[in-house]
Amino acid sequence: MAVSAESAWRVLENPWFRSLTNTNVERARELIEELDRFRVGVQKIADVRLPTGAAPTLVVIFDTAREFHEYSWARDIGGYTLLSAEGLPELTIVLPARGTNSDEFHTIRHEYVHTLNRYRAVQFPRWYEEGIAEVLSLMEIRGADITVGLLPKERFETMAYAKRSGLRVWRSFDDIVSGDLLAHDRSGFAHYAQYWLLAHYLTFGRPDLRQDLDRCLVLSDGMMKPLDAFRNAFGMTPEEMWDGEMRQYLWNVPARRFRLKSPIVAEPFRVKPADTAEVQVTLSAIRAYVEKRE
Ligand SMILES: [Zn+2]
Repeated sequence: MAVSAESAWRVLENPWFRSLTNTNVERARELIEELDRFRVGVQKIADVRLPTGAAPTLVVIFDTAREFHEYSWARDIGGYTLLSAEGLPELTIVLPARGTNSDEFHTIRHEYVHTLNRYRAVQFPRWYEEGIAEVLSLMEIRGADITVGLLPKERFETMAYAKRSGLRVWRSFDDIVSGDLLAHDRSGFAHYAQYWLLAHYLTFGRPDLRQDLDRCLVLSDGMMKPLDAFRNAFGMTPEEMWDGEMRQYLWNVPARRFRLKSPIVAEPFRVKPADTAEVQVTLSAIRAYVEKRE
């Protein structure tokens, strides 16, 4: 897509996000403010903090799904995130203003949790990193009310779909934790439901295991393989934990509601015309990344 003088690219920015977009201002504002409220909400309920002075996240919002697909590598992608891609800021989120996919916000929030997690002292093993990103990304914010722990319906639908296509989808929890299945797994995102379940169970179902979980995460960070760390911290394998009460937990997953003192509001965004050179440089860097993936 050529960047012509008449395509009205704009910048919307606050200290945390910088959005480049060619959609109308109202829609761009709606999307970026939603992400900004999530930034506030997730820091209220999870023990994670963006350091002051952290670089703003770049959010590129294309007006149409057609334009977006010129900058993505598969039809079924609703939005994506680039981490440390050449020529782009540390974190770049790319999405269409109106996607074909209803869960585009789930994806963006999920990716945003990964960004926040980069600032933690302990780097999580993959099963927990993905699991907690799933748990937190399904947060619902209505004014001062936050609900967290909701079921990832799309993940279970993906799982059911993969199963109908003859793929093996439900894995042993030992494989989920060890991470061994990733290199040769064809079932795509099917096992995200299992990452989610394990993180949910340990966070909300078993607060009594909090210290064991913390120890497990510390041990996994460079000292032990994730499966050994799990066994060492909990005194059982993940599959044994599943066979215990986690299997029942799945059928009655609790959600938690928090009421804050005041409603969450987005930090105001300034709107201005984008610099054409910046738009061109950004789009070609995204293009270069996408072509490498194809
Ligand atoms: Zn992820």
